[in-house]
Amino acid sequence: MNPVRVAIAGSSGSIGTQTLDVIAAEGDAYVVSALAVNASADVVIAQAKKWKPEVVAVADGAARTTVRDALPGVQVVAELESVVDVADVVINGVVGFAGLPVTLATLRQGKRLGLANKESLIAAGPVVAPLRDVPGAIIVPVDSEHCAIHQCLRSSNQPGREVARLVLTASGGPFRGRTAESLKDVTVDEALSHPTWKMGPKITVDSSTLMNKGLEVIEAHELFGIHVDNIDVVVHPQSVVHSMVEYTDGSTIAQLSMPDMRLPIGYALGYPSRITSAFGSIDWASLSRLDFELPDRSTFRCLDLAYAAGRAGGTAPACLSAANEVVVEAFLAGQVRWPDIAHVTEHVMAQHHVSQPYSVDDVLAADAESRRLATEALTR
Ligand code: MG
Repeated sequence: MNPVRVAIAGSSGSIGTQTLDVIAAEGDAYVVSALAVNASADVVIAQAKKWKPEVVAVADGAARTTVRDALPGVQVVAELESVVDVADVVINGVVGFAGLPVTLATLRQGKRLGLANKESLIAAGPVVAPLRDVPGAIIVPVDSEHCAIHQCLRSSNQPGREVARLVLTASGGPFRGRTAESLKDVTVDEALSHPTWKMGPKITVDSSTLMNKGLEVIEAHELFGIHVDNIDVVVHPQSVVHSMVEYTDGSTIAQLSMPDMRLPIGYALGYPSRITSAFGSIDWASLSRLDFELPDRSTFRCLDLAYAAGRAGGTAPACLSAANEVVVEAFLAGQVRWPDIAHVTEHVMAQHHVSQPYSVDDVLAADAESRRLATEALTR
């Protein structure tokens, strides 16, 4: 059998490097046909020398020149979405809204999309949805919660009629149990020390505010067609139960494993089959307990901001996600305090006029306007 050709968008990031780990473990079953990065020239040059892709995409102009000089004989291009042309499956691990073109191109070409870039689905849900009808196009979520739900849904012959609700688990992040008062002056380093998952900085800050969980509620709505009010969040500090589906007969089906993103990545690479390398297997001798509690919605206000955006629909999730991206960047740069993340995002959402996006341009406009409003709020 021919090896599966894998394109990795965002190959220098946490998802990208772990995708290469999985492919290395799987031997000859996969080849890396393309790599794409924003500006990490040194990383992608080293990756390309080892994995020999046909295409390397580099968004940043100066970095692209460096990569082109270092990789004679490799096609080095500007557009991240060019990686789709030479792939059977695309892993989209780009950070933030910049991942949208890769999502769109993969589905338009009727290919399998391993989606770790939740922002593209959240911002552009109404535009992405019809592309899922393209023959061959399929989204397999590379987000531990959604991968879990995807697996749990396979226990039903008629998920559309039998699902009562989805239950997303949340680790609670580094600030679980803290009061709003005690979180006023937390540092970037404190927000970046996640108790169970090792991830990139943007998503780690989003975990500390529970915005990540809120975005995941919208993501689950887009992926599985369940109304946000039938999606619950429960805090589960061990991050072993990755999410659950409750059916109409009262049964709850859960997926369990140790926290390891290589499992969802491998699930997307192998789908509909299972890969042969195990990641995150549970050692029952060391796992002694699983705890669950309801989230503290008054301290972690971003969760309800996301529910509100999910209920409003249209461009509201794009606005939420864009405003959050801008404020999180400012927080990481030391320019604002942690509580400002919820505060500024809420302020931008209140100013945004929700409309129905019919095209990518509509989504881009909502994104740009929300970024402008967030930047304006930050400079005041
Ligand atoms: Mg997740």
